[in-house]
Amino acid sequence: MTSFIIPPPATPSVAVANSTERFPVRRIFCVGRNYAAHARELGNDERDPPFFFTKPGDAVVDSDSTIPYPALTKNLHHEIELVVAIGKAGFRIPRERAPDHVWGYGVGIDLTRRDLQDEAKKAARPWDWSKAFDRSAPCGPIVPVSISGHPQKGRIWLAVNGTVKQDGDLAELIWPVADVVSICSDAVELQPGDLIFTGTPAGVGALAAGDVISGGVDGVGEIRLTLGPSS
Ligand code: MN
Repeated sequence: MTSFIIPPPATPSVAVANSTERFPVRRIFCVGRNYAAHARELGNDERDPPFFFTKPGDAVVDSDSTIPYPALTKNLHHEIELVVAIGKAGFRIPRERAPDHVWGYGVGIDLTRRDLQDEAKKAARPWDWSKAFDRSAPCGPIVPVSISGHPQKGRIWLAVNGTVKQDGDLAELIWPVADVVSICSDAVELQPGDLIFTGTPAGVGALAAGDVISGGVDGVGEIRLTLGPSS
């Protein structure tokens, strides 16, 4: 048995729908720009191949949490996303085998410090400080594929204080889940516990302290989050 000089970090995890067991989180991969309308609103060619960035596994936050308004930003944005929970390892997974590697699906919010991201883009610097900060990956309960199947279409939405801001459909994904899993696995060997945030539809916008955020994906589930005062 390994002996550690300080207590080893706890395993991050997210809830599993209708279960007391939890899904352990290893790494978080995120797809940039994966809905045509959102790519257009950011001024990009919708035919670009997908690209990825990451968040630390311990950035996950359960649904129904209150989190502090993050440091360093005055323009925190919401991005509602379908989350893929990987249950089986794979490297260079063919597209048609990709569903076999998915344990379930969840609804996540890719919180983004947009002002820092805009600065990073201008300076051709990394996105870590805009995307990979503490509590930047709220994720609702994971529903197993045995219940959800592999959703190909269905409403994906987000509301702030009850007003709908993002309202899209999974059918609008430029790169569907099977492609995302396959292409991600060309770069890294996916492992059980990895989460993939699959991109956000149009309508991203700023959040303020005190906001109550809700969102969902038809056939998958919902997420609720409250933004507290600055940390
Ligand atoms: Mn995103």
